[in-house]
Amino acid sequence: MTRRIVIVGAGIVGSSLARELAGRDGCQVTVLDRSPAGRLHGSTGHAPGYIGVLGETPVLTELARATVRIYRSLGDDAPGRARPGGGAGFEETGCLEVATSPAAYGTLRRRAALAREAGLAARLVDAGEAAALAPRLVDPATAVAGLHFPGDGTARAGLLTAAQRRLAEAAGAEFADGTEATGLEIRAGRVHGVWLADGTLVPSDDTVLASGVWGPLLAARAGVELPLTPVSHPYVYGGPRPARHPRGPFVRWPGRHVYARDHGDRDGIGTYAHEPRPVAPADLGVRAEEPWPGGQFDGAVAAALALLPPAHRFAPDVRLNGVFSVTPDNMPLLGPFEGLPGLWSATAVWVTHAAGAAAALAEAIDGGEPGPAALAPDRFAGEPAGELRRRALGHYNDIYAAG
Ligand SMILES: Cc1cc2nc3c(=O)[nH]c(=O)nc-3n(C[C@H](O)[C@H](O)[C@H](O)COP(=O)(O)OP(=O)(O)OC[C@H]3O[C@@H](n4cnc5c(N)ncnc54)[C@H](O)[C@@H]3O)c2cc1C
Repeated sequence: MTRRIVIVGAGIVGSSLARELAGRDGCQVTVLDRSPAGRLHGSTGHAPGYIGVLGETPVLTELARATVRIYRSLGDDAPGRARPGGGAGFEETGCLEVATSPAAYGTLRRRAALAREAGLAARLVDAGEAAALAPRLVDPATAVAGLHFPGDGTARAGLLTAAQRRLAEAAGAEFADGTEATGLEIRAGRVHGVWLADGTLVPSDDTVLASGVWGPLLAARAGVELPLTPVSHPYVYGGPRPARHPRGPFVRWPGRHVYARDHGDRDGIGTYAHEPRPVAPADLGVRAEEPWPGGQFDGAVAAALALLPPAHRFAPDVRLNGVFSVTPDNMPLLGPFEGLPGLWSATAVWVTHAAGAAAALAEAIDGGEPGPAALAPDRFAGEPAGELRRRALGHYNDIYAAG
């Protein structure tokens, strides 16, 4: 018997899931996305692509570990130059976490112990070695110590998404670009299909919301509350400079809520050190991007840039105010909605966890495996929406630890 699986969203999560499910016995996979062909209007199109395997919980670490394994295996299928330690889409640059105070050094020591428990390579280094590992990004005058994760890396999320889409299509999945889902068909307490903007019904046995920050909108039309809060987040790029290979490690300052990346021919820096800026789902446009608000974001970016060595501080050339999801416990919403059979969530998932999350969800959909209970999308059922939103926003500044 054919099982019709409709995935709403062709970002890195929907494309990873399509690759997992396409070609499995009896599975017919259709992916709907309102973005035009070849464009990623969701968060995936904006992520600078830090992949840190060590999460704050074992379930996140396992998802990230599985994800990196899969991204590495995509090397031959992604266009572009293959890179050391992975395919074109994943580059094993390593990650360096830097402390600029004794308290932050305490955090690094705690994370070094967590890494050991998880069996991940990680090494505490002194300030001099930290600066030698990332001379453009680490200022030896302010660094106290560092924690180096050699197996972490950076992702080109667009390439990884395209590679997985190609594999899914080759295995029989159909992608409908420029196609907006406007509602769910519910009969006898079960989801039976997805309504499109042109009034067509796409019948389904299983419907997966992989629609990122827009997930709550479609869920609400089915009477389901998805406890995900879209927030906007600043990331800026410097102007082009001579390219350097290999690229240096991704750098994070956990105590300062700042991270920076060597993009090869330019540098970039992002910061969480500002009041969280939620975006009401109803106010979202079709892109996961908001206008640059100035004010608080300018101040936070200036403070972030001051962490770089004076010679390498840059004037922002491109300012991005991207939108992604936060949840009340900083974890994805992954699995079935117990109260509405036929509907699944694959939302609030980072690039860092996307392929591993897709593998776990595919096993739940196709293999009847239970899926990680800690990630069940209705785990907050019964709690007031305002309180959940408050908790989610409270985690915004801790995101550096999420992976
Ligand atoms: C500035 C920024 C920095 C980030 N940094 C990192 C990082 O360093 N590391 C990391 O791991 N993650 C990072 N993230 C988070 C990461 O980008 C996202 O978690 C991830 O890309 C989400 O993927 P997705 O496929 O779930 O969602 P999306 O990429 O948003 O895809 C959802 C898709 O659903 C489609 N869609 C929505 N509603 C409908 C509808 N009704 N009908 C049809 N289609 C619909 C959209 O068009 C979209 O293409 C960052 C995000 C931003 C914005």
